Parts: sequence; structure tokens; C-alpha cells
Amino acid sequence: MSTKSVIKAIEAVEVLDSRGVPTVACRVCLEGGFSGFMQVPSGASTGQFEAVELRDGQQSWYAGKGVQRAISHIEGRIQTAFVGRSFDNIAAFDAALCELDGTVQKSVLGANAMLAVSGSFAKALAHVQQTSLYQLLSPKATSLPAPMMNVINGGRHAANALAIQEFMLIPNGFTCFKDAVHAGAHVTRVLGELLKQRYGDPGRGDEGGFAPSMHEAHEALDMISEAVVRAGYGFHQVGIALDIAASEYCSDQGYFLDKEGKKVLSPEAWVDFLSSLVSSYPIVSIEDCASDADEKTWQLATRLLSSQTQLVGDDVFVSQPNRLNAGIQKGIANAILLKPNQVGTLSEMIVTVRMAKNAGYGTIVSHRSGETEDSIIADLAVGLASGQIKTGPLRQSDRLAKYNRLLWIEKELGTSARYGYAYARTDKKEEVATC
Ligand code: PGA
Ligand code: ZN
Repeated sequence: MSTKSVIKAIEAVEVLDSRGVPTVACRVCLEGGFSGFMQVPSGASTGQFEAVELRDGQQSWYAGKGVQRAISHIEGRIQTAFVGRSFDNIAAFDAALCELDGTVQKSVLGANAMLAVSGSFAKALAHVQQTSLYQLLSPKATSLPAPMMNVINGGRHAANALAIQEFMLIPNGFTCFKDAVHAGAHVTRVLGELLKQRYGDPGRGDEGGFAPSMHEAHEALDMISEAVVRAGYGFHQVGIALDIAASEYCSDQGYFLDKEGKKVLSPEAWVDFLSSLVSSYPIVSIEDCASDADEKTWQLATRLLSSQTQLVGDDVFVSQPNRLNAGIQKGIANAILLKPNQVGTLSEMIVTVRMAKNAGYGTIVSHRSGETEDSIIADLAVGLASGQIKTGPLRQSDRLAKYNRLLWIEKELGTSARYGYAYARTDKKEEVATC
């Protein structure tokens, strides 16, 4: 084993994310002057089954949102346990980290502390091997992901009345990532002008997408469809994706059409409503169409809609292999969102990716609504050949860092770069990318 991968020091700092809320930054230093650095993201519509994000809860420090305990775990217990040890792969390092924590949901060290260390070590290993993280993950990686670009925000990410959290573009019908980004930027610009004319200044949501004062889903879908056409594209080139984030707006009575719960649909009527949206608009993907606790509605939606559209599980799977495995057995969804901080280490997320691919599920590597300028998910999407990435609108450095990184990767790959993905649909399984 190379002496270069001997761990020399592990440092951490409490920094701020795109909402101005504390998060963890970490550097793993190896012998020989090699190092890796990562900053972790944080969610707002957080699933109840996610690994534990450690927050200090001290009102006098960032209103209880401080992460000083996570920082002290990195510089204390984790550093003490790892300094002087040597690992030549990410899986062995992450396994040792999980052993040190000793809990399923990372409640001792905190998933924010652990992911920061896991990602920093992976980048340090890439540094030692004088390569990029995506190439460390797969030397044969050539596939750029289709981006889900958030353009209209609602739900927990905006102050308007829209209950649906995210309305996104997928510029999939292009031959390269660069042209896809250009098309997304063009449609976003046209949409911004249309929204201003019809709704006044739309304002912005947490991720930087527009947050017009709309009330119902069809208003947003009408405007986006019109913007695609006015920008001169066909829906085979630019489709629409939704993240309903349904766990946030539901009750025992059913699913909310508005944030206040004035209009509530039974699960059957809710699935009919989603079906009518899929028939009326060029919707190619729907995320979290049912609550993470509602397997029956998930199964109904999967039975009725999965031949027409991609159905993505986020809160229901929380990127964890055991939850995905249970979902596959039960016929829930046909694709999975992958957020490294939901599970706590890169290696565990990679296990989930492999399981999803083996089952013919689509895979979408994703940011969180609270992000930093760290672009690690761009490398993960390419290195794991996820086929799709969700990383917000073309706005704010925290989102653009990922798009810009992917543009560089496409340049590095040159003529071997591939772009163009078929979304997971149960009638199109054979087209789902594999790595
Ligand atoms: P979150 O939102 O990061 O606030 O959870 C993103 C999502 O739900 O996909
Ligand atoms: Zn989601």
C-alpha cells in the first residue's frame, strides 16, 4: 500500500450554506502533501428516515443550527481514530468510519460530520492518484447526466401558495451537455419574461428558481410549456419534471392541492389528479408523488403511472440500500434520488446506486436545497453513470458550481463524452443506463 495515503490530519470548520445556515467543511490531509476538501449540504424538506444531521440546538448560536459538535467529532474522535492509518480505497475507509460511529442512522458522530470526512477522503485519494474523483470512481466514465433544472419553486422552498415543491426542465433531447445547458438557460430566460408580464416580479425560492404568486400546479405547468415553445424547442427536447415532496403537505385525509389544506384529495383522487397532469403536459418525471409513510399510495401510483412517466423515490428511500431494497420488492417507484447526506458516506450511496441499476431503476444524483459551492455531486453523477442529476436552476454559485464542473468534465472527456438519457419507465427498462 502506498505510504502516500497515510492520513496525517483531519481538520474541520463551521461554514455557511446557501441559506446562511451553518454546515460542515472538512479537509483530510495525507502524507506527501495530498489532501481533499468537502463541504456538506443540508435539506429543508427532510425525510423522516434520513441519517441524523447533528445540530447543536443552542439558541444563542445561529438559532440552534450550529454544527460545532459535528466539527469537534471530526477533529476529536474521528481524527484520533484515523491519523496514521492508511486506506487505498473509499469502501474500506467508509467501513471504518461507520464502525467508529456504530449506529445505523449515524446518530453518534452525525451524518454531516461523516459525509464531510468520507467525501474529503475520496477527493484526497483522487489527488494521490493524480486523477479526478469521477475517474477514480470509474476510469471508463464517459456519460454526462441529463440535468433536472428547477425553474419554479413552491412548497417548503418558497413563500408562495404552490404546494408542489419543484417544477423543473429536463433538456434531454440534445447531443451534448453544453447544448442542453444552453437550451435550459434559453427557456429559463423566456419563462422569466413571461412570468414578469403575467404575475409581476416573481421573486426567488431557496434554490434560486422563480417563486411567482401562483396557487395551482396547472398555472406553473402552462407557463413552463409556453416558455419551451416560445423559446423554439419541442417537448422531445425539453421535458418537464416535478418534485411534489408529498410528505410535506398531506394528512390522514389525503393530499393537499394547496398549502393550507383547503383542498384535500383522497389517495385515489390524488393519483387520478397526477395522471391527468401527465396526460395534459409533457411531464417525464415525478418525484415523491406520495408521502414516505404511505406505501399504498406509492404502489397505486407506480401501478398506474410508471409506464408513462419516471416515478422517483426521494424521502421514501432516503438513498439507503435497505429502504430501496424493500421498495423494489413492494413495487414502489421506478427511479431513485441519491443524496449523499441522506445516508452519510459515499460508499453506502454507491451500494444503493448499484442496487437501483440492477433492478432497472433510474438514478438521479441530487443536491440539497441548502448547498455550498462544493461540486462533488457532478463528479459522482459522471463517475457512477447516474444518467441524471438534480442540481437546481441556472442561478446562484451554489447551483452553478455543479453545472460548471460538468461543462469542464465534458471538455476533458472530449470526443468520448456521451449525452442523452432515457428516463426510467417500466415500459422502457432496456434503455436505462448501466455502469
Ligand atoms: P431538500 O429538497 O433538500 O430541502 O430536501 C430537495 C428535495 O426534496 O429533493
Ligand atoms: Zn425531493
